[in-house]
Amino acid sequence: LIVLSGVNKWFGELHVLKDVNLSIARGEVVVVIGPSGSGKSTLCRAINRLEPINNGEIVFDGTRLPEEGRPLARLRSEVGMVFQSFNLFAHKTILENVMLGPVKVRKEKSDVVRQRAMSLLDRVGIAAQAQKYPAQLSGGQQQRAAIARALAMQPKAMLFDEPTSALDPEMVGEVLDVMTGLASEGMTMVVVTHEMGFARHAANRVVFMADGQLVEEADPKTFFANPRTDRAKDFLSKIL
Ligand code: ATP
Ligand code: MG
Repeated sequence: LIVLSGVNKWFGELHVLKDVNLSIARGEVVVVIGPSGSGKSTLCRAINRLEPINNGEIVFDGTRLPEEGRPLARLRSEVGMVFQSFNLFAHKTILENVMLGPVKVRKEKSDVVRQRAMSLLDRVGIAAQAQKYPAQLSGGQQQRAAIARALAMQPKAMLFDEPTSALDPEMVGEVLDVMTGLASEGMTMVVVTHEMGFARHAANRVVFMADGQLVEEADPKTFFANPRTDRAKDFLSKIL
């Protein structure tokens, strides 16, 4: 579904993505781990073209990622993204937040969208909060609202960049549960996370990034039991 070939990205002199090749199949859940500054967020943002790349190619569902304009907006709406900070609109209710994309961007009918939004809020366990404003929700509830908002666009894939890092520990589980549910329903997912439990249980593949390179990839069982490279061993010894 997503194919990156020879992707390079520089921030000025800094080479942050170094010849990245990565193929993600439909329905696959890929967890990306690696030290701070290794380029994980940049990789996610590149997949969504929130960050332009200098060379290489990213193909999404058979279409090369366009640089700009309407084709880019359309492709982008097919990839949902959830960040560490929830990025909900503070002056809109949770329901309005979830409905906004489909109604404004997709021009879908609001009664159709409202139904879908309510069923998504129900699915992430916060239907009772639909009429509240983001500030009235806990961090875990806000992040689940952000996931519902991304799903409201009916994306073909979901990107998560450290979705639980900003949460109090007791709220991490409820967000991971929603993500695990999505994974088991066959959603294609790229997840940057330090939650190794999620990586072990929900991922089909773990990709280890260091210094802008994909250093190692394997299924979670193999990766955690037998990391091949010293860099991966070193990283695991620090976080496990
Ligand atoms: P973390 O685990 O801390 O989130 P990361 O693996 O997500 O790290 P990135 O955010 O992708 O790392 O950053 C990769 C490198 O690019 C870092 O050295 C960072 O300082 C640099 N960088 C990121 N964004 C920019 C930017 N907009 N301008 C300049 N440099 C940037
Ligand atoms: Mg990051």
